Amino acid sequence: MPRRSTTRNRTLPLSERVCLIHYHEIGLKGRNRSTFERRLLANLEAALSSWEPISITRIAGRLLIIPKNEEDLDRICEACRRTPGVVRVSCGWRCERSEEEMDACAKLALFDCGDFETFKVAARRSNTDYPVDSMTLNQTIGAYLCEAAPDKKVQMKDPDVTVHVEVVQGSVYVYSRTEPAVGGLPVGSSGRVVSLLSSGIDSPVASWRMMKRGAVVIGAHFSGRPETSDASEYLVDEIAETLAPYAGLARVYTVAFGTYQKRIAEVCPPKLRIILYRRLMLRVASRIAEVEHAQALVTGESLGQVASQTLDNIRTVDSCVDLPVLRPLIGTDKTEIIEEAEDLGTFEISSRPAEDCCTLFMPRSPATHARIRECEAAEKDYPLKDWIDEIMGDLEYKDYPCPAYHEGEASHTEHEAAEDKPAAERTD
Ligand code: ATP
Ligand code: MG
Repeated sequence: MPRRSTTRNRTLPLSERVCLIHYHEIGLKGRNRSTFERRLLANLEAALSSWEPISITRIAGRLLIIPKNEEDLDRICEACRRTPGVVRVSCGWRCERSEEEMDACAKLALFDCGDFETFKVAARRSNTDYPVDSMTLNQTIGAYLCEAAPDKKVQMKDPDVTVHVEVVQGSVYVYSRTEPAVGGLPVGSSGRVVSLLSSGIDSPVASWRMMKRGAVVIGAHFSGRPETSDASEYLVDEIAETLAPYAGLARVYTVAFGTYQKRIAEVCPPKLRIILYRRLMLRVASRIAEVEHAQALVTGESLGQVASQTLDNIRTVDSCVDLPVLRPLIGTDKTEIIEEAEDLGTFEISSRPAEDCCTLFMPRSPATHARIRECEAAEKDYPLKDWIDEIMGDLEYKDYPCPAYHEGEASHTEHEAAEDKPAAERTD
């Protein structure tokens, strides 16, 4: 293959800027693959709606985004990086299958990552209708770049810059800039959960982990109102707004819980209070899950973190509901949870003091090994079923952007009406 000249006089290539989305985990899902790809595509369309990209399409194991305006490329890349299901995002160029255009784009890509000393070309040909194989492409484009950047060195192992040249479906994609994304699975590919969302540090992280595994999250916040102010509700809303760009939190229900805690505190043994509050919370969350067709509940508990989070207490709490109670942080240390909350942007909000139902009527020494039977006996002292009905009738909720949830909203509302479930009052 003859060496091509870098000094040839020609106009800039007819290339356009593109963003390539990589998603290896979806690739592992066998026959479900196309469903997952469609879900990711729809989520990206919603996430990028403010930039109106020209197109988002599937090409050979990637999603291809063509922005309307080149200046939007970096912001589009950022939005894609925080979309669950996206593993890596590459910004580059698309050009025709012509040697000159490939060379010119490869040169642009070579200098796209800032300072560097070493580089290599990594070509991939997914269509054999293109006559030049990937080895030859590596050599010829590599030779061209050596001439274009004579002070840089080719290095096959761990080079500073890798110029990827992918010949796919009649076009060529060239890029070197690849950034890691959040990974996981596209929201909407793993069902729905109801997550007990306080204004503390842990539960936003637990909710995020579920979104990242593809679940649509419905939050349930228990406020101390009317025994406390509504400060925790504002914090939870701020947390929800912070999680909104990940498009996995669909709705947050708020329960005014103070009155019920007060009544429990009046009639029950102090040491059981926290467990009894938690059992009532889970029962309400379970009813919300019924209304929302959710398949599991989620909490931000971590084993042994506080007195209420022992194995005995977890068992006693879980025994009052049929749904599985997922605890994505059960084996995670507080320091790791804090790091994750900082990355998410929720830590600062969660660190602000706010009196919520957790701080209300706290006993001096809560039970660390509460028994199911003693809790059931204590619950006979209050009208549990009436309370749950009352709470369900007084629910408030606010919606957040989650395409996987709101797409099916019409049919969900019809279902709710048919089932004659209590209508929640909208607060948004
Ligand atoms: P976080 O509430 O984030 O865990 P925390 O450690 O102060 O902070 P805990 O008392 O440990 O709260 O509560 C354990 C779990 O119970 C929480 O992670 C959350 O899932 C649930 N929970 C507690 N309080 C509330 C609340 N007021 N509203 C909703 N869920 C709550
Ligand atoms: Mg906690």
